[in-house]
Amino acid sequence: MVASPAPAPEAKAPSAFARFKLHDALLRGLDAAGFESPRPIQAATIPAGLQGRDVLGLAQTGTGKTAAFALPICHRLLRQRGRSPRALILAPTRELATQIAAEIKTLAKFTKLRLVTVFGGVSAKNQIHQLNQYPDIVVGCPGRVLDLIGQGKLKLGQVETLVLDEADHMFDMGFLPDIRRIMSSLPDERQNLLFSATMPREIRKLANDLLSDPEVVELADAAPAATIDHALYPVAETRKRALLDRFLASKDCRSAIVFTRTKHRAKRLAQQLEKAGHRATSLQGNMSQGQRDRAMRGFRAHSFDVLVATDIVARGIDVSNVSHVINFDVPMTPEAYTHRIGRTGRAEKSGVACTFVTGGDREWVRDTERMLGKPIERRNMPDFDAGDVNLAPAKAARGGGGGGGRGNARAGGPGKRAGGGKRGGSRGGAGGRGGSGGSTGGRNSSRGAASRGSRSASAKSSGSSSSGGARSSSAAAQPSANGVQRGRRVRKPGARF
Ligand code: AMP
Repeated sequence: MVASPAPAPEAKAPSAFARFKLHDALLRGLDAAGFESPRPIQAATIPAGLQGRDVLGLAQTGTGKTAAFALPICHRLLRQRGRSPRALILAPTRELATQIAAEIKTLAKFTKLRLVTVFGGVSAKNQIHQLNQYPDIVVGCPGRVLDLIGQGKLKLGQVETLVLDEADHMFDMGFLPDIRRIMSSLPDERQNLLFSATMPREIRKLANDLLSDPEVVELADAAPAATIDHALYPVAETRKRALLDRFLASKDCRSAIVFTRTKHRAKRLAQQLEKAGHRATSLQGNMSQGQRDRAMRGFRAHSFDVLVATDIVARGIDVSNVSHVINFDVPMTPEAYTHRIGRTGRAEKSGVACTFVTGGDREWVRDTERMLGKPIERRNMPDFDAGDVNLAPAKAARGGGGGGGRGNARAGGPGKRAGGGKRGGSRGGAGGRGGSGGSTGGRNSSRGAASRGSRSASAKSSGSSSSGGARSSSAAAQPSANGVQRGRRVRKPGARF
């Protein structure tokens, strides 16, 4: 009798990442992290990153961009020896820096690469101690990085790769001068990877100065992920709280992030919700780092069901399973809308995003729809009196009703009208948008510039859903097999990206 051959041990299908010929330890890390196939931004940028080329990635958090830059960096660090630190990753907030560091540690779990995270708001002592241990990668916020350079504790003369993550947000927070100072202490010969969700004028200029012959990859970022069900809820300012209660009471609302315009509103609303029996906490710029960490940990662990946050601190937060994003106040800019609602529907899960809009938010609605290239659906909470609200453009409002389409504050629900049929602007409208959310140590905050410099609606509207594809802003863009478009642009003096 002939013995049958023994079954091959662990006949596992090769990871779809294998095609990048990444270091084995990274493939193991990807496998352990459960990353089965590359996201569009990863498929489009990893090859260029591995070749040592510069990359301009127009993509936001939630698309998988951390691994898109981390994998080539780690691979190159593992392939060749060098002196510490060899990669510098700059991020606008402590939360994002921590998140990037955590993701890299996960992916590099089976390597001996060392990483240190540096940010303000906590003592520098431990960070300096870790810097003395020759880390390969430094992830940090510009302010603290610059302080440590100034103290002679961080020497960047050996850096081979610089990453600027959420560059537009760093600009919003007034970090651009710090970034330029940091750049001046880096070797001229290096790889630069720049990621930004939007391209305000200043970031285009930075990209022109920084990048040489970059691979330009543009995700159709302006559009919210297809997994997000998002709508506007016209409501009078005085009825917002009641509307919020209705959302939070719904059984589908398992875990919600509620955005407010100012840190004071975030704090007060969280306290009110807590008094009303919700497990709520806030995340805003007036909190110490320890308080913020506790809030985030509690929210992640589901000790809190509601997190009331301001834009800046909440940006970049990666929490899976957020069922609802509720914009209690509209964000400062249309771009921030996509960022905010991207906190739900993450990692290809589905999510709901509701934006409360008052008559005072008319302009914001118009600009955001222009940015998205299409109207956002208006809805009404059934059997809820939303109070007086009129979203019709000023001209149409004078004319008495304005006709269908985008401007009108139709109640949307079965036969209901948010404005109760009345004309005129909302009482308690949004008011001025001067009060920004809590800043996390940003300097000379210059908000609003992002919207000034944003790309045109027509340029943005041509993409597909955010997680579904990427395209190049280059004239020579080539569609690839997976529906991703990318391009390469030769840098000319004065060329714009
Ligand atoms: P990021 O945009 O880098 O913040 O990534 C968003 C989330 O997607 C993070 O939780 C990542 O761990 C996860 N992620 C990134 N790439 C992949 C992938 N290829 N497969 C599965 N999950 C991923």
